[in-house]
Amino acid sequence: MFRQSGALLEGHFRLSSGLHSPGYLQCALVLQHPKHAEALGAALGALVRPLDAVTVLSPALGGIVIGQEVGRALGVRAIFAERQDGALTLRRGFALDPGEKVLVVEDVVTTGGSTRETMEVAGAAGAVVVGACAVVDRSGGTQGLDVPFHALLPMEVRTYSPEACPLCARGVPVSKPGSRK
Ligand SMILES: [Zn+2]
Repeated sequence: MFRQSGALLEGHFRLSSGLHSPGYLQCALVLQHPKHAEALGAALGALVRPLDAVTVLSPALGGIVIGQEVGRALGVRAIFAERQDGALTLRRGFALDPGEKVLVVEDVVTTGGSTRETMEVAGAAGAVVVGACAVVDRSGGTQGLDVPFHALLPMEVRTYSPEACPLCARGVPVSKPGSRK
């Protein structure tokens, strides 16, 4: 699904950070197709159903689409937290009840930082975070969350400084991801 939609590119890429990588992942490119988003939401939903969450909470923007689809799969509401003055917060009248069982849903988990921050938003409202999930886990299993965590696709994409890049050393042409052929 990722390859088909151009969300996973393999080759030799110059990332916006300036680092080089043999792979490039952009979850939004797979989630732009509602049928893919729905299928991924259903697959995640099957993994997290035993957690009995009554509300899905996602961080904007990356988590909104997949959060909606996991909510659809579980038959529960899906809300999102967004940044205001740098801090994630519930806006638009979204609210959580004390003790409400919340599942945090993300597109990609890398360090787990935004997942933890989203969990804190739920905790601050008195809700109980029963678990977290993501389509892609790039943490290498090191996200270190203290709730059950599920992901559909564990993936580590290596990065190199241009000087240390083995693809450059082999003379493989480098390109910018997203540039159309
Ligand atoms: Zn390179």
